[in-house]
Amino acid sequence: MKIHEYQGKEILREFGVPTPRGVACFSADEALTAAQQLGGKVWVVKAQIHAGGRGKGGGVKVAKSLDEVIQFARQILGMQLVTHQTGPAGQQVRRLLIEEGAAIAKEFYVGMVVDRVAQRVALLASSEGGMEIEEVAKNAPEKIHTVRIDPVAGLNANEASEVVRAIGIPDVANAEAVQVLQGLYRAFVEKDAMLAEINPLILTADNRVVALDAKFNFDSNALYRHSEIVAMRDLDEEDPAEIEASKFDLSYISLDGDIGCLVNGAGLAMATMDIIKLYGGSPANFLDVGGGATTEKVTEAFKLMLKNPHLKAILVNIFGGIMKCDVIAEGVVAAARQVHLTVPLVVRLEGTNVDLGKKILADSGLPIISGNDMADAAQKVVAAAKEAI
Ligand code: GDP
Ligand code: MN
Repeated sequence: MKIHEYQGKEILREFGVPTPRGVACFSADEALTAAQQLGGKVWVVKAQIHAGGRGKGGGVKVAKSLDEVIQFARQILGMQLVTHQTGPAGQQVRRLLIEEGAAIAKEFYVGMVVDRVAQRVALLASSEGGMEIEEVAKNAPEKIHTVRIDPVAGLNANEASEVVRAIGIPDVANAEAVQVLQGLYRAFVEKDAMLAEINPLILTADNRVVALDAKFNFDSNALYRHSEIVAMRDLDEEDPAEIEASKFDLSYISLDGDIGCLVNGAGLAMATMDIIKLYGGSPANFLDVGGGATTEKVTEAFKLMLKNPHLKAILVNIFGGIMKCDVIAEGVVAAARQVHLTVPLVVRLEGTNVDLGKKILADSGLPIISGNDMADAAQKVVAAAKEAI
């Protein structure tokens, strides 16, 4: 689960990481009041969306007067902000963060992720702040310093201090930078984060170390023990289809292709998307209906897929293990009838009671195309989608 920058900064402050003072706003009026309250002569007007790259997309502006604060707030609020992380459609800006301006002497990068191979939290730090770490990793990997943190000892001051020196933070600011890294690590662990990133972490003209940006991604499997994080959830930033799917306990991810996939089991769902690609098609979604797919669940899954205006065909790919093929077939038939299916439907069944399942599909009178195996079904659905164009 992701949160906004201003929420991330609240967490950072709780763990002793210095940030600029700031106020979250929903209107230009609120932005003006916030700037007046903050005082000073320079403010930063920042779009709050769950995506990075806002600066380049025009979502971060430095205002040198209260008039400019209002002007930028009006400009940014409501805009469709396009960044490399939003996709071409962009994301609508509904919230702003108004912050006191910071005098930047130098920008750095610090981030933490779970390194599954090392089974540790990895701290990544670089002198190349303000740009995407993926670019640095590609062009100048030697500029990224990594520490895999001992889960028992935590991030010790010596280790942190070495990294701070390695990325070029001067010794006068070393102690404060160490405090930032240790605070970030404690926040990461205590809040069950999967990713925490400060980009840029800045050195100010007077040698202070301040987090100018904050990005967090939390492990959704641990949210049950973090009501304070759940309270930060902003559903406007999430895909409506994915929110709807979670209500029915369906694992659904929207993709940009045109072939809907309804599959049981995440591994089979991945393989199904792969084979659609192999035969020249493009999946419209990832959808795992799980092991205990009831007629109701299958119906909801169909409804979700059919809401997508780009949908041209559907492939149902079910392996009946615990679940019997005849039960699935009945569910598919009932669901197809209820939603008045408007696109071609290819079904591939395998496993327990497969013959009975196929008979139910054939006897239903619905124009269901039967796939004999995965390759056959994938080729049929790709052909059906192409014909629908
Ligand atoms: P992102 O583009 O979504 O990662 O947004 P950031 O919060 O990182 O802001 C983008 C850039 O705006 C930063 O890298 C800074 O260079 C600049 N910026 C942000 N806050 C300030 C500030 O207070 N003063 C100045 N001068 N620049 C800022
Ligand atoms: Mn940033």
